[in-house]
Amino acid sequence: MAIPTDDFFAHFDQAKLVKADKAHHMHGYHVFDEHAEQGALNIVAGDGAYIYDTEGNRFLDAVGGMWCTNIGLGREEMALAIADQVRQLAYSNPFSDMSNAVAIELCEKLASLAPGDLDHVFLTTGGSTAVDTAYRLIQYYQNCRGKPEKKHIIARYNAYHGSTCLTMSIGNKAADRVPEFDYAHERIHHISNPNAYRAPEGMNAAQFLEFLVQEFEDKIHSIGADKVAAFFAEPIMGSGGVIIPPEGYLRRMWEVCQAHDILFVADEVVTSFGRLGTWFASDAVFGVQPDIITTAKGLTSAYLPLGACIFSSRIWKVIAEPGKGRCFTHGFTYSGHPVCCTAALKNIEIIEREQLLAHVGDVGSYLEQRLATLRDLPLVGDVRCVKLMACVEFVANKQSKALFPDEVNIGERIHVRAQAKGLLVRPIMHLNVMSPPLIITHAQVDEIVETLRECILEAAEELTTNGLYDGA
Ligand code: PLP
Repeated sequence: MAIPTDDFFAHFDQAKLVKADKAHHMHGYHVFDEHAEQGALNIVAGDGAYIYDTEGNRFLDAVGGMWCTNIGLGREEMALAIADQVRQLAYSNPFSDMSNAVAIELCEKLASLAPGDLDHVFLTTGGSTAVDTAYRLIQYYQNCRGKPEKKHIIARYNAYHGSTCLTMSIGNKAADRVPEFDYAHERIHHISNPNAYRAPEGMNAAQFLEFLVQEFEDKIHSIGADKVAAFFAEPIMGSGGVIIPPEGYLRRMWEVCQAHDILFVADEVVTSFGRLGTWFASDAVFGVQPDIITTAKGLTSAYLPLGACIFSSRIWKVIAEPGKGRCFTHGFTYSGHPVCCTAALKNIEIIEREQLLAHVGDVGSYLEQRLATLRDLPLVGDVRCVKLMACVEFVANKQSKALFPDEVNIGERIHVRAQAKGLLVRPIMHLNVMSPPLIITHAQVDEIVETLRECILEAAEELTTNGLYDGA
C-alpha cells in the first residue's frame, strides 16, 4: 500500500478507540490490570516491515506481527489475488465428497515442498488447530494399526504449541500455566528443553546433549515404549525464548524415536516458510525426516488465517487402508477455505519469485553477526539468533545468570523504550524476542541493533540509579 497520509490518520479517533477496546475487546493474553490502565497500541496500517498507529507513528516491526508477516504487509498483488478469489468463489464446503480447486492446488504444492514422503495435507484454520489435528491423527493411526495403548506423547517444558485446551497442555511454558486455567495431564509428558544457556551447572555442550537424550530414553522407559505414540518438538523453540538446540540434538531425538516406533512431530508453525531460509527446517536445517509437520503463520504471511498438518505416506497407508469403511471424523468449516488457500499460493509464489529464502540466508546471517555485538552490554546474559529468529535474554548478574525479580519487568522495560524510538520487539518475561519479516534489509537490521543497544544502555542506567542493578 502507499505510505499513509495525514488525511488517512485524521479519520481515527484514538480516545474513542481506546475506550471501546477497553470496553469490548478481550485480547489474546489479555493482561487485565495493565490493559484497563494503559490500553493498547492501536495499529491501523502496514507497509512492508513497518506498521502505523492511529496517530501516524511508524514502527519498524521486528516482531513480524507474531512470527508471521513474512513477505511484509500491504502487497497490492496479494490484495488483488484475494479480491479475485472472493469474487470467484468465497467459500465451498470442504467435507467428505466436496473439494475446491484452490485447496487441491495448495495441497499438491505443500506436498512438493515438504520433505520426504510427507505427501498428505489436512488444512486447518491456524497453528493450534494444526497441532490439535496432528494429535487426533496420531490417535486415529494408532487405533487403526491395532495399538490402542500407544497414545502417550512426550513434549518439552517451555514449548508452545497453541492455545486450544489440548495444545496449551502439550506446550508447557511456566508463564502460561496460570492457576486460573486447568490443563490436561492424561498421557502428556514433558522433558527438559535444550537451552544450553541454562544447562545444568558444569555441563559442557556434549555432556548436555547426552543428558537430554538420556532423559528422553528414561522417560520413554518409565512410560513403556509400547505406550509412547509421539514426540512433539519445535525445531527451534520460539516463544519459549528462541531455544536453539545443541548441535545434533534433533537428529539424536529422532533416532531415539525411530528405535522405539515413536512418531516425530515437528511443529514448524514458526520455523517454516522462510524464517530459517528454508521452506521447512526439519530436514533442510536439522537433517530430520519427521512423520508429521504442522505449519501456519508464514504459510500465508498472515494475510489470512490458515494452517496445515502435513503427514507421511506411511501414516496415510495405515489410516486409508482400502475396504475398511473408515471415516476421519475431524474437520473445520474453514478447512481448505478457497480465499485463504489463494493467499497461501500467492505467498509461496512471491517467496519463490523474489528469492526470499536466499535473501534470508544472507540478511539472517547479518542479523546473527550484528546482534552478537550486544553480548558485551550490561544486562545482556545471552543473545540467540538463527537467521530470522532472535532473542536477547536479560539477567541481573552475568556470572550467576540470576534473573531480575518479576516486578522489574526487564523485557517490557526495554520494549517500551524501543517502541518510543519507533522499534517493536516482543517482550516475553526477561526476554526480547524478534522475528522480522523476510524482506528486512541490512539497513533495517542495523536500525534494530542500534536502537536495542541504546535502550539496553538506558535501562541499565535507570536500574542502576534506582538501586536495582549493580552492573554485575
Ligand atoms: N505452534 C507454535 C510453534 C507456535 O509458535 C504457535 C503460535 O505462536 C502455534 C503452534 C499456534 O498457532 P496459532 O496461534 O496460529 O493457533
